[in-house]
Amino acid sequence: MAPGRVLVIAGSDSSGGAGLEADQKVIAAHGCYAMTATTALTAQNTKGVYDIHLVPPEFLRKQIDAVIEDVGVDVVKTGMLASAETIETIADALTHHSVSTVVLDPVMIATTGAQLLPPEAIHVLQSRLLPLATVVTPNIPEALFLLRQSDAGPAADIGAVSKIDDLEVIGQAIRKLGPKWVLVKGGHCPLRKDGTVAETEEERETVVDVLVGEDSATGKEIVVRLESEYCASRNTHGTGCSLASAIASNLAKRMEIPAAVRAGCRYVQAGIRSAPGLGGGNGPLNHFH
Ligand code: PLP
Repeated sequence: MAPGRVLVIAGSDSSGGAGLEADQKVIAAHGCYAMTATTALTAQNTKGVYDIHLVPPEFLRKQIDAVIEDVGVDVVKTGMLASAETIETIADALTHHSVSTVVLDPVMIATTGAQLLPPEAIHVLQSRLLPLATVVTPNIPEALFLLRQSDAGPAADIGAVSKIDDLEVIGQAIRKLGPKWVLVKGGHCPLRKDGTVAETEEERETVVDVLVGEDSATGKEIVVRLESEYCASRNTHGTGCSLASAIASNLAKRMEIPAAVRAGCRYVQAGIRSAPGLGGGNGPLNHFH
């Protein structure tokens, strides 16, 4: 049987732990076929991003057209989008090629603090790309930023996330902006096992991600809580990219969304636990396990 075809539209991370280098490893580890359309190059390692070189949007469009017109695509996964013009180009291309399954990782700021999407591009992301997304995977700061820049109502007023219920409200509000499913990643919300907020790093026991979407049988909105044991680690570089690519691969293998997301979370957690410990900063995960 032909492998699932995943096209990654993202930035390159020269250190191989995040960006499209990580995406390709994850997709290969899932037995799928990875293709890339590069939005930007970064000079980067585990300690920081030292420079960014944008790929001209016309060239990006040529990459997307070339692979889709020949090889075809089952799932598109997007990562670092770099500029408003790039986002417009991607939205035009996805619409032109009628791409039906899109995993959108709304990458904004790297763990090391580098700005990977200019704040003014957020409106284009919202108006053009969010409505095309099958699943969008914000962490809490990205989710709050998306909502504050929209007319999403009460959820936009949440100052800080202090409980699991807040994650559900945020997920439901982002879903109103157009994506079919929203995975709010709870890594920035420190929790004890009983669901209360941990005051110190030592008290952290659990991470809860919240998935909001539509139940295919009933057509009603469903909220799924995905709980996992917290693992303190410096080796978390590229976890967001890797999770989104794992979900994209699972969808290319025709899994349903909740199962694809559950399996993706397990894959990333196992990757953190068995990380090779490379570099002096935030090291990469183990992608092949
Ligand atoms: N560099 C590139 C090119 C990325 O696409 C991303 C995330 O998507 C990062 C860096 C950020 O990686 P992290 O914040 O996990 O270190």
